[in-house]
Parts: sequence; structure tokens; C-alpha cells
Amino acid sequence: MTAEREALQETAREFVRREVAPYLQDWEDDGSVPRELHLAAAKQGLLGVSFPEEVGGQGGDLLDSVAMQEAFFEAGASSGLMAALFTGGIALPHIATNGSPDLVDRFARTALAGEKIGSLAVTEPGGGSDVAGIRTTARREGDEYVVNGAKTFITSGVRADFVTTAVRTGGPGHSGISLLVIEKETPGFTVDRALDKMGWHCSDTAELSFVDVRVPAGNLVGEENSGFVQIAEQFVVERIGLAVHAYGIAARSLDLTADYCRHRETFGKPLIANQVVRHKLVEMRRQVEVARTYTRAVAARHVAGENVIAEACLAKQTAVDCATHVCDQAVQLHGGTGYLHGTEVERHYRDARILPIGGGATEVLTDLAARLMGYA
Ligand SMILES: Cc1cc2nc3c(=O)[nH]c(=O)nc-3n(C[C@H](O)[C@H](O)[C@H](O)COP(=O)(O)OP(=O)(O)OC[C@H]3O[C@@H](n4cnc5c(N)ncnc54)[C@H](O)[C@@H]3O)c2cc1C
Repeated sequence: MTAEREALQETAREFVRREVAPYLQDWEDDGSVPRELHLAAAKQGLLGVSFPEEVGGQGGDLLDSVAMQEAFFEAGASSGLMAALFTGGIALPHIATNGSPDLVDRFARTALAGEKIGSLAVTEPGGGSDVAGIRTTARREGDEYVVNGAKTFITSGVRADFVTTAVRTGGPGHSGISLLVIEKETPGFTVDRALDKMGWHCSDTAELSFVDVRVPAGNLVGEENSGFVQIAEQFVVERIGLAVHAYGIAARSLDLTADYCRHRETFGKPLIANQVVRHKLVEMRRQVEVARTYTRAVAARHVAGENVIAEACLAKQTAVDCATHVCDQAVQLHGGTGYLHGTEVERHYRDARILPIGGGATEVLTDLAARLMGYA
């Protein structure tokens, strides 16, 4: 922790208290976060943390982003809010790293300024875990690609002005995939449906279709057929980010629960006066501490240039297990109140359920770790 990171955290906490917490339940009910929030976050210097200044970001690295996200959760942001507000974290890195100056100007810079919203579309109705199996095609015709196919479960896809889309430009398997930026207004590109979900209610999730969508060849990100490598390169950061979501909502649920247990009385004494309750709180704290410490360490090793693909899988799983247990116990100790819509721990409990699925399902990541660690 540096003085600069502490200042960043204070800015983030203040932003959440002022701009997020009072309105979050309304956004949950509406199923969407307002575009103005992106502008406000950009103005506070929060939207572009960890993106280089040359592409319109605030600079800094993954550890700055982790510190900032922790502060968001501490102050009461939800996992869904973070997914919606920071979708640029998954939609933009490929453009920032491999995109032409024109793509950087039109998409990275504008999204990091909060003026545009971008999504990342990899998953298809036929399956999400097997990224190498995608079927959406992009056929080259002169200076254009003609895109046909469908994507689903796309975060911020209802609101997005552009979508960084994984398409098949070559043969079968991972070596035939490219990334194309497709703009919302392009003829043949349709948002078919806004999907209703168990949690992440304020984060809009879309089903998209592409019928003979003509995309300028200049919207190709990096080299043709380099899409899988570009997607895979970002997985470590995405998985560490989801680990922060997991222990972030767990830590917040623990704080809320400890407070509740100090004030709620049963059988003539506060809940916290029962040894079994105190032990539950300590076990929740233990799991949060372990997940946070390990995830931060993996993030630091990534920043130092180490290959931590396997460790990022372990960090995500450790944090997901922590959230699963802690958010459940938080509801339990809140009793009937914990089961009510509008109670914060109830929201975290529902939001936690996506974390072992999104960004690589538990089984898939465990298998990846097994291979990387030589347990094949
Ligand atoms: C709210 C939400 C937001 C999302 N946002 C995005 C987004 O912005 N962009 C995007 O591209 N995608 C997004 N996704 C998709 C997400 O990444 C996929 O849901 C995930 O990768 C799993 O794919 P799937 O749902 O098709 O499940 P499948 O691939 O069909 O797998 C189903 C289940 O089978 C099990 N499984 C799968 N493979 C194996 C295996 N080899 N061995 C053992 N078990 C296995 C796992 O339990 C898995 O959950 C989002 C999903 C949700 C729900």
C-alpha cells in the first residue's frame, strides 16, 4: 500500500458513498446503471485506473486497480455495479494493447472518458467454456468483414455503443479467431434480448445477433487470427478481478453482519454474545483474509512479470469459496431480514452465484491449473 493508493481508495470510497450507494437499489430495480455514472467515474479519475495514459487511462497497474476495487466494495458497491461500470476492463485491454491508433482514439479513449460504453462478446448460445469453439463468422470482402452469428450473456451489451467481438476468420480451433470492434448502429447488428438474472440486477446482460453485418477491416484488433491469444492474455487480469469481487463482497457482508450481530438481540442478549456466533464471524474473517492476501500476492507477481496463469485460477477459486460461505452465513445471521429484497447481504448472496461460472467455470479453471501444474 502506498500513499497514492490510499488516496485512490479514499476517492473511490467517497465516490461510492456519494454517487452509488444512495441510488443502487433503484438501478437494481431498473436493471441498468445510468450512463452518467461512467462520466462521473471518469471525472473522478477512477474509470481508467491501470490503463496507460497514452490510451486515455489514468496509468497505474493491476495493484492500483485491486486497491481501488477493494475500496468500492468496502463502501457498499455491489459486484453487479462493478461489472457494469467497469466493463471496459474486459472490453478495452485488447484495443489498448494491440489496436491501431484510430481504434484507440475512437473506442479506448472515449470509453475511458465515460463517453462511450464497450462490451466484450465471446460467449455464444452454443457454449462459453470452450472459447476455441466459437462459430460466429467474419468473412473478408474487400475492405470489410461480413459478420454472421450470435452472442449471449454479454455484460453491458444492452447499453454498449461498441462490442469487441470474437469472430472466426480462419479455420477451426483457437488459431482461427480474431477480434473485431462492431458498433451498435451497424445494420444487421441487433440486441435481441435483455436477460433476466438471479443476481447482478443492475448490470444489463444481452443476447446479440449479427446478420450480414458489414464491419470495416480497420476495426480488426491486432493481427487476423490472433484473437484467442489476445483473449487468453487478458484472462489473468479478469480472474484476479473476479477474485476481488468475491472477497470484496464477502468482506462487506462480514462487516454488515458483525454490526448486525452487535445490535440484534435474541433471548435477552445481543447475538454476538453467543460464542457460536463469534466463531462464525471469525471463520468468515479467516476466509476473507486468506482470499485477500493470496489474491493480492498473485496480482503482485503478475505485475512483476511472472507467469501466474495457474495461480490466478487458484486465487479466483479461493475467493469464490470464501464468498460462497461468507455471503451464505451473512444471510443466516441476519435471519428473516437477510432473506428480504433490499437487504444488502441478500444482494451479495445472489451476486456471488455468478462468480464460479463467469470468467471461466470452476471445473474448467481447475482443469487448466491441473495441466499447468503437471497433474495431467
Ligand atoms: C451474468 C453473466 C455475465 C457474463 N458476461 C459475459 C461477457 O461480458 N462476455 C462474454 O463473452 N461472456 C460473458 N458471460 C458468459 C460466461 O463467461 C459463461 O457463462 C461461462 O464461460 C460459462 O459458459 P456457459 O454458460 O456457456 O456454460 P457451458 O460452457 O455450457 O458449461 C456449463 C457448465 O458445465 C461445467 N463444465 C463446462 N466445461 C466443463 C469441463 N470441461 N469439465 C467439467 N465441467 C465443465 C461448468 O460447471 C459450467 O458452468 C457472462 C455470463 C453471465 C451469466
